[in-house]
Amino acid sequence: MAMSCTDRSAKLFTDASAVIPGGVNSPVRAFSAVGGTPRFITSGRGWELTDADGNRYVDLVCSWGPMILGHAHPAVVEAVTKAAAHGLSFGAPTPTESELAAEIIDRVAPVERVRLVNSGTEATMSAVRLARGFTGRPKVIKFSGCYHGHVDALLADAGSGVATLGLPSSPGVTGATAADTLVLPYNDVEAVEAAFAVHGDQIAVVITEASPGNMGCVPPKPGFNAALRRITAEHGALLIIDEVMTGFRVSRSGWYGLDPVDADLFTFGKVMSGGLPAAAFGGRREVMEKLAPLGPVYQAGTLSGNPVAMAAGLATLRAADAGVYAKLDANADRLAGLLAGALTEAGVVHRVQRAGNMLSVFFTEDEVPDFASARASQTWRFPPFFHALLDAGVYPPCSAYEAWFVSAALDDEAFARIEAALPAAAHAAAAATDPEA
Ligand SMILES: *Cc1c(COP(=O)(O)O)cnc(C)c1O
Repeated sequence: MAMSCTDRSAKLFTDASAVIPGGVNSPVRAFSAVGGTPRFITSGRGWELTDADGNRYVDLVCSWGPMILGHAHPAVVEAVTKAAAHGLSFGAPTPTESELAAEIIDRVAPVERVRLVNSGTEATMSAVRLARGFTGRPKVIKFSGCYHGHVDALLADAGSGVATLGLPSSPGVTGATAADTLVLPYNDVEAVEAAFAVHGDQIAVVITEASPGNMGCVPPKPGFNAALRRITAEHGALLIIDEVMTGFRVSRSGWYGLDPVDADLFTFGKVMSGGLPAAAFGGRREVMEKLAPLGPVYQAGTLSGNPVAMAAGLATLRAADAGVYAKLDANADRLAGLLAGALTEAGVVHRVQRAGNMLSVFFTEDEVPDFASARASQTWRFPPFFHALLDAGVYPPCSAYEAWFVSAALDDEAFARIEAALPAAAHAAAAATDPEA
């Protein structure tokens, strides 16, 4: 197969590596799990990315979720440009912050108050602190393979880059911090019941991804999130549903729109800020009002509620109407169909798992309900599959443990390119051999 030219990206990666550890500011971007040269992107428009060598790609990552409208959407660019012209940051309240908070409250019924922050990591970190402050208890339950950002207490057995790089957890997280985190297998209600039977009066909060996308796409079994709600309520603990990835993507109301479980706190990021750095956590008024300045739980941010980020988020959510969500779902159906068709044709064992319009490809016949089964799949088929797609102008996530993200901008031309790229990629996956066999 003709390899695309990557000379400029290679040079940029070398230059970056001289000043930035590993050449990247978020580990998965380094292509560690798939090898090869990370593409340095110079522009994006609609469904297409262009790299420094002029190669063009159908984008199936969408900045790991945010870009549901595609890149450089005119309404978003206009809103951001206008906001920027009025000044970038004031360290004082601005009108658009409450507009974005109100938009979130309008879309997710149990959310009565919202605090805006700068990243999903900050949202989950702050929500956990608030839950501990509210309950006066120390322990947190999280699930193996769920990623909630790089919060110390939540890095244990995490998905996303932690899974991609095969790190068990992270040096730098002290034993004392980790000791208050209980890690349980995902989708296992009995394990949650058992943990509460032993530690019930010490558990402040259970945090779960609304529908995990950071170990690949592993949806909750029907009733799993509802069971977490029931058990936490029985024991006076709080429930945080992390919608940083799913929020405002899988429906107008995120996963809550598909599986309405009233958590005490929700976390948001990615789509809600349209590609700029902003995120949020919100929930019941009684809990949220424990935050400073009303309450004793401290939480703050110099750039929180930044007016340019607010403009990007508002413009994105206002453009994300029923037509956009219908298009996202239709595009995910179409992509899933093409992936399954090509892999079946090439005789590769696979499962395309779905959670609304998110999806991922597992090289196994078996259902993947948790991180252990995700890890047991034939992940070694992924790198050649990935590179064949990339060489043919399709940019999938660069790890078997990440979800694929569609935008509403994908059109027939984009799908024609994906369809043309898939047979060779599926054959590359079929020809892969297990390095440990
Ligand atoms: C991306 C993500 C985070 C972290 O958000 P950042 O903005 O990268 O800090 C947290 N939780 C989930 C579910 C995510 O997908």
